[in-house]
Amino acid sequence: MATMKPSNEAEGEEPNPRATSLADYNSEIDAIRGKEFPMLQEATYLDHAGTTLYPKSLIDEFSKDMLSSLFGNPHSASSSSQLSTRRIEDVRLRVLRFFNADSDLFDLIFVANATAGIKLVMEGFREQKHGFWYGYHKDAHTSLVGVREAAKGRHRCFGSDKEVEEWLDQSPNAMPGDEIPGLFAYPAQSNMNGRRLPLSWTCQLRSSKLGMHVYSLLDASAMVSTSPLDLSNASKAPDFTVLNFYKIFGFPDLGALIVRKQSGSVLLRRSYFGGGTVEMVLCGKENWHIQKHDCIHDQLEDGTLPVHSIVALDSALNVRERLFGPPERIAEHTLFLAEQMYNGLAALQHYNGSKVCQIYLDPSSSYRDSKTQGPIIAFNLLNRERQWVSITEFEKLANIRNIQLRSGGLCNPGGIASALDLEPWEMKRNFSAGHRCGNETDVIAGKPTGMLRVSLGAMSNMQDVKTLIGFIGEFFVDHTEVPQRAEASPILGRELYVETLTIYPIKSCGGWAIPPGILWDVRAEGLAWDREWCLVHRGTRIALSQKKLPKMALLRPSLDLDQGLLRVNIHGPVPPATPNEISVPLSADPGVFQTCDVGLGTPTSQICGENILAPTYASKQIGDFFTTLLGTPCTLARFPAAVSGLSTRYSKAHLNAPGNDKFSSLPPNITQRPILLPNESPILTISRSSLNRLNEQIKLKNGKAAHASVFRANIIVAEDPTSSPGSERPYVEDGWRSLCIGHDLNFDVLGGCRRCQMVCVDQHSAEKNEEPFVTLAKTRRKDGKVFFGVHTALTATKRGQVARIRLGDKVCATG
Ligand SMILES: *Cc1c(COP(=O)(O)O)cnc(C)c1O
Repeated sequence: MATMKPSNEAEGEEPNPRATSLADYNSEIDAIRGKEFPMLQEATYLDHAGTTLYPKSLIDEFSKDMLSSLFGNPHSASSSSQLSTRRIEDVRLRVLRFFNADSDLFDLIFVANATAGIKLVMEGFREQKHGFWYGYHKDAHTSLVGVREAAKGRHRCFGSDKEVEEWLDQSPNAMPGDEIPGLFAYPAQSNMNGRRLPLSWTCQLRSSKLGMHVYSLLDASAMVSTSPLDLSNASKAPDFTVLNFYKIFGFPDLGALIVRKQSGSVLLRRSYFGGGTVEMVLCGKENWHIQKHDCIHDQLEDGTLPVHSIVALDSALNVRERLFGPPERIAEHTLFLAEQMYNGLAALQHYNGSKVCQIYLDPSSSYRDSKTQGPIIAFNLLNRERQWVSITEFEKLANIRNIQLRSGGLCNPGGIASALDLEPWEMKRNFSAGHRCGNETDVIAGKPTGMLRVSLGAMSNMQDVKTLIGFIGEFFVDHTEVPQRAEASPILGRELYVETLTIYPIKSCGGWAIPPGILWDVRAEGLAWDREWCLVHRGTRIALSQKKLPKMALLRPSLDLDQGLLRVNIHGPVPPATPNEISVPLSADPGVFQTCDVGLGTPTSQICGENILAPTYASKQIGDFFTTLLGTPCTLARFPAAVSGLSTRYSKAHLNAPGNDKFSSLPPNITQRPILLPNESPILTISRSSLNRLNEQIKLKNGKAAHASVFRANIIVAEDPTSSPGSERPYVEDGWRSLCIGHDLNFDVLGGCRRCQMVCVDQHSAEKNEEPFVTLAKTRRKDGKVFFGVHTALTATKRGQVARIRLGDKVCATG
């Protein structure tokens, strides 16, 4: 565990009142966490900038309110309707007061989220007769950046604060087309690294000559999450402020646009009108309508308001005040924790002195100064050789330890590009190389494409900080020099044999052991019947995986070769009114599959991100069987037979060459090798001795030993039981290049198998454990990736020759 820098209390000094009050707060939080935040029992939640969490009291109070009131649809005469209208108007005022906004000078429009607020402002500007000019700061959230598309080329991205200040200082003719209205938007706090931007800009803008035409839009979403927003001085306040309430309270899922009334008319020029915003509409013979004009919100709130969500704000405000005190206190607490987190992360070092965390803190910001910084820390990890650690690998481990944080592009394109020093050409190249927001390709050409972000909230405590720092210390800090793994010398003709043969007829479901004595067909794409079927979601048609649905392990397919059936049983209790078993014919009779309406084309399914023509079974009973057990609407699909020209059955050589050329050299034609599913190799082989070694290491730490089934191998090879004791050679497979099994059957070894947290799903109980991934990550990590087992594939055999394998076959390896 890394040590943390001492806090700002020096020895012998008088206790610092700030630190004392913060320590009090922290102990109060510790006391209420169990009662108010039961969802935090097992989790370390560090994504308050994504959304904070709602306390139990809020849900209790809200539900009491709901059950004791009769709320109708607002805007009519019944008393239930009047109650809704009254409550909405009361909450509107209360929320304005929460931000110190005088309701004579400000109006508040309820919107779905901050983005909806931004779009409402954009609508007003888009319909200006001669268009509008749009300026935004590079630290803006994606939702602010998007407004530029409505400005039709008349926009500017300010690359720094200095650029904004220079612009504010100069004469109005600096703005292109100064007769058209303009909108200048920026975030009060960057959602990427928590940097605070000057709130004074809105006032500077208004008092400059630009203020004649240019309005200000402040995106306060990230800031209000932990800090007060003070609109008490209307002359200095932004014209438009957007925010969302779920980031402040955890619930309700709702946003607001706060409008300075003086500036409101520009928003009312939109031509659209919706229900609730008009006094009268004529249609048919004459088209005429008259807009409501009492106040701004009446004209902008289209349709029925989310009454219950608005009512919930009452409870949210009550409970937050009661539990955490005034917003200033939350701001202090969260920033204090962020400072501890920052100090702890910054102090982490590898044994050779190189730093572990690259933290993206702006040079002008400080965790001591709430004017410049909020409680967010964005960073990337470096290994001892100063190479970037893959975010995906970090997440796999964080998941196992139930540490929740945000990673990737963080919806902040400008901030990411400048912090990571990515030029537009690099980002475009990364895109062509397969990088997308939220996918696994995260280090390209030696540069990260995203970052990790931790953010704190009112109910965060010191333990959360310690947990993250301890976790990084455990898995990502090299405390001593790691001895080079001794290269196992290749042993030719060593006595190994096939201990088990397993196929997985339905992708990601349980395995079926091939019984002894049976000679089993091996094809170029793998063992016969292996991953011939899959389950697809009925809506998205994406193939399901155990990673998200561990219960899939309890579905046990088996092959009944005599009857010609695939049978599927449930391991464990069968849900009520569910058959014990379903079966489908092994023959691919086209009559059992769903047909599509003419014109819609054949439905395709997404398997590992590829569109695949996988016909699904039409039977309702089959669909219901899987849906009931997994609790998600899905059905069985059959993978199409290998067809030449169909790219989907061909490996994309997603084999993650681990750098060691013995480990990874692929035959040149590997990309053309047919396999059952993309991302999976034809045959996965593991070694019993390696598993034994791994379990010895797990047991040394009192962990739960791993059953071989968690690795979902097709072949387990084991040392001949008659060989002398102590002659086991764990991990000898790392050095294999090819295998000869049984009578003259040759396999290529394609490389190590990269592992994820799916190996932690116990295949008998479908429960998740820490092991074996934690121990694998500590003992079997190379270049940030964790390997266990090897991908193998049949070497091209002579035409017409049938390849077969069976239990007990001798195995010899060449290195
Ligand atoms: C969260 C966030 C948004 C987006 O909020 P939505 O509610 O998803 O529309 C916009 N800007 C900032 C700064 C944010 O933190």
